[in-house]
Amino acid sequence: MDIPSLTIDRVRHALLSREFSACELAAAALRFAEAENPKTNAYLHLCPERAMAAALRVDERIARGEDPGVLGGVPIAVKDVIVTKGVKTTCGSRLLADYVPPYDATAVIRIEEAGGVILGKTNCDEFAMGSSTENSAFGPVRNPVALDRVPGGSSGGSAAVVAQGTAVVSLGSDTGGSIRQPASFCGVVGVTPTYGRVSRYGLTAFASSLDHIGPFARTVKDASTVLSVIGGRDPRDSTSAEAPVPDYSAHLTGDVKGLKLGLPIEYLKQLTSETGDLIARGVDKLKALGCQVREISLPATEYAIACYYIIATAEASSNLARYDGVRYTFRSQSSDTLTDMYRNTRGEGFGAECKRRIMLGTYVLSAGYYDAYYLKAQKVRTLIARDFANAFQEVDAIVAPVSPFPAFKLGEKVGDPLAMYLSDIFTITGSLAGIPCMSVPCGNTAEGLPVGMQILTKHFDETTMFRLADAFERVQKKE
Ligand code: GLN
Repeated sequence: MDIPSLTIDRVRHALLSREFSACELAAAALRFAEAENPKTNAYLHLCPERAMAAALRVDERIARGEDPGVLGGVPIAVKDVIVTKGVKTTCGSRLLADYVPPYDATAVIRIEEAGGVILGKTNCDEFAMGSSTENSAFGPVRNPVALDRVPGGSSGGSAAVVAQGTAVVSLGSDTGGSIRQPASFCGVVGVTPTYGRVSRYGLTAFASSLDHIGPFARTVKDASTVLSVIGGRDPRDSTSAEAPVPDYSAHLTGDVKGLKLGLPIEYLKQLTSETGDLIARGVDKLKALGCQVREISLPATEYAIACYYIIATAEASSNLARYDGVRYTFRSQSSDTLTDMYRNTRGEGFGAECKRRIMLGTYVLSAGYYDAYYLKAQKVRTLIARDFANAFQEVDAIVAPVSPFPAFKLGEKVGDPLAMYLSDIFTITGSLAGIPCMSVPCGNTAEGLPVGMQILTKHFDETTMFRLADAFERVQKKE
């Protein structure tokens, strides 16, 4: 059983032809994950009991002659900011090191209802704040493609397990790029769906107006299958949309002839030459498939980083107020008064990046500064969304880089938060606009480091995004 080569279709075929059972696959996948994990630190914890129980249910379905489910028997990993009943969910934070949630996120419930087998929880930047997974309280993740490099962040663990082959697909969360950027750095597919496409019930809140759940996979088809399972209205999340969820995989025809694509000029200026070359070659391949490519302008791009780091920190400062030592977190033992208890719990519990964001966010929301910073940032956000809306009057999809550079070395940017924030330049615009966007592998640098191409489409038009990405993937695989 070659676990790293599995896809959803391959698992389905093997189960239905009785090549192996879901229980055999789950047991082998758990053993493989345990053996491989010391290399990357991508899993924070495995949940063998839960995985074996899910696998047994799939085998029972098959034995009864029933369909095993769209994800029947598929080994899946879940980012540790998404709650799992009875299975520790730490958010990469010391504060939640022992937190065992009493309920499951909707995405988790849907995955298991579809027959998915959750193997474990993946490492991430603390409360999903970061671009390298070095902000985890439980040690950084190493990029399986180059172990001295970061896997990207904040969903570095979820990208790494799929690249390493210790899960077939995984769930991550994206607020400003945390799915696309690690997907690009690790050479896998990563999808940020339209804001509202996937319920966030059970996703630990970072910046609520920006948070998304989305899949990682080794193929576009697998990513689209997972999205069709987890997508759709959920009465438990009032921001989840009523929009029907298409069967995306039915649209993956390989035919993208006549599709109009936009290339944002503002994005192309700031790339390393190798990244720029790979994206240019990718665009040529899309032209060869019959796409019409033209340059477009997204003029508000230059304000995106400032705008995002005001809005996201403002919302984070409010969302993180709940970790006070009274309810589910660790509590500092060195306090005599209630105020000291709050202060010490938060002081000892949060890492440096969370503290930085709480301070920045509290500042931009404070009386006297609100209009100058927060309100201004909200107006800029509208301009960024309008840039995209204007572009989509003329083109069906936008093609862009994901990150200005490939995976950097561990420790290289960790001491310079601003340099770290700048790595999000091409991903936060799509997040601020709430449009679907994804990273699809676009080739490797001379050193063998993966580079992803970003595809962005209109709200709720994941179908066009997947169709284009799949056609591109087919060309890449032929090479
Ligand atoms: N790197 C960005 C940040 O640190 C995005 C994180 C995310 O998408 N969760 O805020």
